[in-house]
Amino acid sequence: MNILLNNRIVPRESFSLDLEDRGFQFGDGIYEVIRIYDGILFEWEAHLERLVRSAKELMIPLPIPVNTLYQNLQLLVRDSEITDGSVYLQITRGSAPRFHAFPEKTDPTLVAYVREMQRPLEKMKKGIKVITAEDIRWLRVDIKSLNLLGNVLARQKAVEKGAGEAILIRDGMVTEGSSSNVFAIKGNHCFTHPANHLILNGITRQVVLRLLKDTDLTLKETPITLGELLEMDEVFITNTGQEVCPVIQIDEFKIGKGTPGIYTRQLQFAFELLIGSVIPS
Ligand code: PMP
Repeated sequence: MNILLNNRIVPRESFSLDLEDRGFQFGDGIYEVIRIYDGILFEWEAHLERLVRSAKELMIPLPIPVNTLYQNLQLLVRDSEITDGSVYLQITRGSAPRFHAFPEKTDPTLVAYVREMQRPLEKMKKGIKVITAEDIRWLRVDIKSLNLLGNVLARQKAVEKGAGEAILIRDGMVTEGSSSNVFAIKGNHCFTHPANHLILNGITRQVVLRLLKDTDLTLKETPITLGELLEMDEVFITNTGQEVCPVIQIDEFKIGKGTPGIYTRQLQFAFELLIGSVIPS
């Protein structure tokens, strides 16, 4: 397998991690996961825009111009011969003698590689059970940083309980999933947490917000309580890997009839038209 290392495509074996890389020691870096459908990087502009924003917020200079990065990613995808998968892209502040504050001279490290990936059709069709967990993360989760321990611990709890995701609750309010955004529908109102410092503004979330305009749902970008979430007609999560995925049970409580809701289905269908593929029935 080949990877992208800064501005070059090189064999995976030729990459070695430096002991004092700040991504390794401090989680001092950012990342993106971009879906590849049929050889095309889905929503790449939005992903690169978010990457640039994350870099700016953490004052990590991009090692190469964003246009060059996009061209390199296309080359990487072509080189991988993978048509359905995802690109993982990470930039760390680079290597320097261990000291918390930024080094005087930063030489960021960019790595990217492609992995094959299947759409989780069964989950998307039947829906998933999720648990709730306390949102113990820091207050800048809008930055897609490498610091994911709060997410990791919540997802581990979900796995231990046989659930597909953990929905995070901060001060009684629903924020997002451990690696997804949360949407909830009551009547013809569709609720999701506003894109502030308490959630990551998912690219799939942004696509769904666009798709909502063609439905008779009214968007309410406002936080809801856990109690309100449990009373919703429909709940679904969104992310790059799972697209629009129905939630049919939260902890021990069924959502709606305990099956994927009609609006969720409609949004899944609209999403599939975008990517040019439909879940086989
Ligand atoms: N929130 C969190 C915490 C995430 O990790 C992710 C996945 N990266 C998302 C939301 C969804 O983002 P996207 O739609 O860009 O995959």
